[in-house]
Amino acid sequence: MGYAEFYRRSIDDRDAFWAEQARLIDWKEPPRTICDHSHPPFTRWFAGGTTNLCHNAVDRHLKDRADQPALIYVSTETGAERTYTFRELHGEVQRAAAALKDLGVQKGDRVLIYMPMIAEAAFAMLACARIGAIHSVVFGGFASVSLASRIEDATPKVIISADAGSRGGKVLAYKPLLDEAIRLSSHKPESVLLVDRGLAPMERVAGRDHDWAELTGRHSPAAVPCEWLDSTAISYTIYTSGTTGRPKGVQRDVGGYAVALAASMKHIFLGEPGETYFSTSDIGWVVGHSYIVYGPLIAGMATIMYEGLPIRPDAGIWWSLVEKYKVSAMFSAPTAVRVLKKQDPAFLKKYDLSSLKALFLAGEPLDEPTARWISDGLGVPIIDNYWQTESGWPILTIANGVEKKSSKFGSPGVPMYGYDVKLVHESTGEELTRPDEKGVVVIEGPTPPGFMQTVWGDDERFVKTYWQTVPGRMVYSTFDWGIRDEDGYFYILGRTDDVINVAGHRLGTREIEESISSHPNVAEVAVVGVADPLKGQAAMAFVVARDASALTDDKAKLKLEGDIMKLVDEQLGAVARPSRVHFVNLLPKTRSGKLLRRAIQAVAEGRDAGDLTTIEDPSALQQIRDLMGPIQK
Ligand code: AMP
Repeated sequence: MGYAEFYRRSIDDRDAFWAEQARLIDWKEPPRTICDHSHPPFTRWFAGGTTNLCHNAVDRHLKDRADQPALIYVSTETGAERTYTFRELHGEVQRAAAALKDLGVQKGDRVLIYMPMIAEAAFAMLACARIGAIHSVVFGGFASVSLASRIEDATPKVIISADAGSRGGKVLAYKPLLDEAIRLSSHKPESVLLVDRGLAPMERVAGRDHDWAELTGRHSPAAVPCEWLDSTAISYTIYTSGTTGRPKGVQRDVGGYAVALAASMKHIFLGEPGETYFSTSDIGWVVGHSYIVYGPLIAGMATIMYEGLPIRPDAGIWWSLVEKYKVSAMFSAPTAVRVLKKQDPAFLKKYDLSSLKALFLAGEPLDEPTARWISDGLGVPIIDNYWQTESGWPILTIANGVEKKSSKFGSPGVPMYGYDVKLVHESTGEELTRPDEKGVVVIEGPTPPGFMQTVWGDDERFVKTYWQTVPGRMVYSTFDWGIRDEDGYFYILGRTDDVINVAGHRLGTREIEESISSHPNVAEVAVVGVADPLKGQAAMAFVVARDASALTDDKAKLKLEGDIMKLVDEQLGAVARPSRVHFVNLLPKTRSGKLLRRAIQAVAEGRDAGDLTTIEDPSALQQIRDLMGPIQK
């Protein structure tokens, strides 16, 4: 069957199509209904069916591949390298599950995971899935204020963490950040379970803090059966940024997610049982959930979990892993490729890459020079794929597992099966059907399996934020601009909201602004994303100081800039640190007091500011133009 027909069936004969896909996983009880869309925009997939993510990722494979590699852990930070077979993984996950049970964790309880890239993080996620606890993994690069808001919202019974992470040889202590986050949050976890890597000293809170090795070691061996969960039960939440400062808990189900991942491994990621998958993401991001932990394991593949940089000890490290573990599919982000592009291209030829079928790239726009460079260097297809934390798996790409198609540079591809993707006019909501018309990329409900169920604890926010932004129609907004060419290939042109994308990391400018505003000498601030040759975008801040009299010379400005960067580092984490903080007397606003972010961004990128008829004081923008001028010349 060609892809066009495959796709049409997924939309026109939805239930039959997905009933077929549902057979890719194990069910305890088969689903009673396939797609329940009786209360739009909510969609319930495979209701009445019972299953378990951990069973499908681990236990199911014991029959055929117990002694084959399941999790390959490599850290170039600590030198650790270890392969866990499916049997060993099964043991570790059960021990972790037993430890969680000791701490009173039950089905439906939340467990927050704030961990570096260590094997225990995967054990912890799978252990939660096993007993029906809802995990909420928070990216280890986030600092105490970001973490506190997530603890506050997820209200976890237990938090699992570690003494430290490490990046480029530099130890980053997690425990003090965690303690501070718990102090800041009004919700307090009952217990904290800590992996001690011996990297940083840890102060323990008596009665609350427990040692991972000690607690899981009590259960050797442990037998903790999988909890059979309704397909529509909650598997996890993952926080993401939007227009407001408050992060949203994207909530996902069990059965729909398992089916979506199993199907995507087959149709998109060319994953065969017994092969090895290597995703260079982090478990703190959705790619880490779907394509480091659950997807490859559900497909019966070995998955590589890598802690370290792409260029340390040298720029050949990833390719050496491809050779050593015979990686068949690899998943990374354009920024990582741009980092490698600055290194000696000979590294791409140094290792035997004959096992590699394709390199998948996602998370941010893939520019043509980067795509060409890596495609020529590796000699394998480069497959761009566009999706979001909310979708859980690709929305636009090409499904080479269904029909081999070529990619077009600059386009992630065509709508994936199950996604009724449309382009609509921003203000009229009218559907745009002609080639090359620019509109907002939207998805017509029902959304496919694997897609977010709702915003954790806030159905109203889910409906309002995502489904009521296009006038006159209830469609899911991706908040991305796009166009479609005459062959049906989409091109993504950037966000319609205040979200920026720095090195593939999605950040809300409002969150960064809130953090900067907490500095005593900041009266007002605007943060915008500006084009950056390496990271895609960089955050740039424009600040009106409360007391400008002290900012007379460059030294004083540099000092305050440094202090503000440090503040963001401490509160949100280095990922959110602005690349520059510029000081101005006033910010460009409309006469009704609305910040003209688009105009600031345009000027900061050296572009025309567009329509400025509503601006209160044009000199505000002129100041920014003057500041940028010498930098760009
Ligand atoms: P996240 O939720 O962190 O995965 O970020 C999702 C956003 O990243 C999307 O809404 C897009 O703005 C951007 N994005 C992800 N993948 C791509 C891609 N392949 N091409 C262009 N933009 C992308």
